[in-house]
Amino acid sequence: MTFESLNLHEKILKAVAQQGYRSPTPIQAKAIPIILARKDVLAGAQTGTGKTAGFTLPMLELMMKKDIKKGRHQVRSLILTPTRELSAQVGEDIATYSKYLPFTSAVVFGGVGINPQIAKIKKGVDILVATPGRLLDLVAQEKLDLSRVEFFVLDEADRMLDMGFIHDIKKVLAILPPRRQNLLFSATFSDDIKKLADKLLNNPTLIEVAKRNQSAENISQVVYLVDKSRKRELLSHLIRKGDWYQVLVFMRTKHGANKLVKELTKDNINSAAIHGNKSQTARTKALKDFKEKTISVLVATDIAARGIDIDQLPHVVNYELPNISEDYVHRIGRTGRAGNSGEAISLVCVDELDYLKNIEKLIKKPIKKIYEDGFDVDATIKAEPIQNGRGGARRKGGGNSRGKNQSKTQNKFGANSSNTNSQGQRGRGNLRKQTAKY
Ligand code: AMP
Repeated sequence: MTFESLNLHEKILKAVAQQGYRSPTPIQAKAIPIILARKDVLAGAQTGTGKTAGFTLPMLELMMKKDIKKGRHQVRSLILTPTRELSAQVGEDIATYSKYLPFTSAVVFGGVGINPQIAKIKKGVDILVATPGRLLDLVAQEKLDLSRVEFFVLDEADRMLDMGFIHDIKKVLAILPPRRQNLLFSATFSDDIKKLADKLLNNPTLIEVAKRNQSAENISQVVYLVDKSRKRELLSHLIRKGDWYQVLVFMRTKHGANKLVKELTKDNINSAAIHGNKSQTARTKALKDFKEKTISVLVATDIAARGIDIDQLPHVVNYELPNISEDYVHRIGRTGRAGNSGEAISLVCVDELDYLKNIEKLIKKPIKKIYEDGFDVDATIKAEPIQNGRGGARRKGGGNSRGKNQSKTQNKFGANSSNTNSQGQRGRGNLRKQTAKY
């Protein structure tokens, strides 16, 4: 299939061609005709599948079809995303694909000054990308009119719910005019997502590209079994040995991310951390340096990493396994994007074997285990409880858009987690013994 066969405006095709895309990705091939037919869509697609262009290109086409008085800009398309980084990325993509079209677009998110955003909106915006909290702030301050929205996208809806945005989403839906086209994108379909889809979507067409809860095929996954105290050493060793130049490393906590950056610096490996405690400027800089390959390692917490969008990210490392198995799928979705192969490496110590089991259950296959030469595991080490401390907790009922209730949620989450190790420790032996079956 070609983009030309999708009935898109030549100015859209020109922008797409300039990106060097040869043919639509599967989600694009499926979604574009359905969206152009003005149907609501429920799409199961992970980041990396090309989903942003999948909804943006037909959105632009539909916007072009409507006769609007020249120079009259009103928000007609609204895209809601869970994080600042993802908003910024989607905004960049929209600017790219619409560069030959007469539309203006803007991105609004919290954590930065609201006044420049108000000024931009005042000038007139056709397409708005937003995180829920800032969007509602702007509406509350009467700086934003959403009464002309015709096209609404909820991007990474599962992540939105995980981050506790459900009330904000409901508030936004209540403001929007009832006659509109709705799209919901989600990597996973929990019951909560289905409930939200029922509320939001009108007789939707279901599109699924990567099978639900299964990790992408073009990602090779390996686990290195290693003692906790030697993870950093092993990471530096693997980076050097493999000549890895662009590695995204996931940590459970912000504190852990900062500490790892310090240690990698001692090993002469250029790295930076990106997490919620970093200012927007610091995050943007870290991301830019990483994209430009000035730094080779970006250490991120799950939330901060959501919006990172880099073509062909070759390596993703789980320095610590996530305590929520679905996060593993999200994390490794950062590599092997849009048809390129990638490698997802997990450094797993004895404490994390239960997490590993849960992940393998979710992805429905065992992950290859490796013992690296020179990194023999110490058979005498017993599993210890994992601290899911700062930055690790933000699940259901969790922090709201403005970051309140954070510590409360963490406690609750830690206590409720089915993965906590009081349970996991029972009957646990050492790493070699436990993984002998592999
Ligand atoms: P997304 O899933 O929207 O985050 O997109 C993942 C990456 O795929 C982005 O960096 C896009 O630039 C890229 N991409 C989108 N569509 C195509 C295509 N048809 N061919 C090649 N790359 C694409």
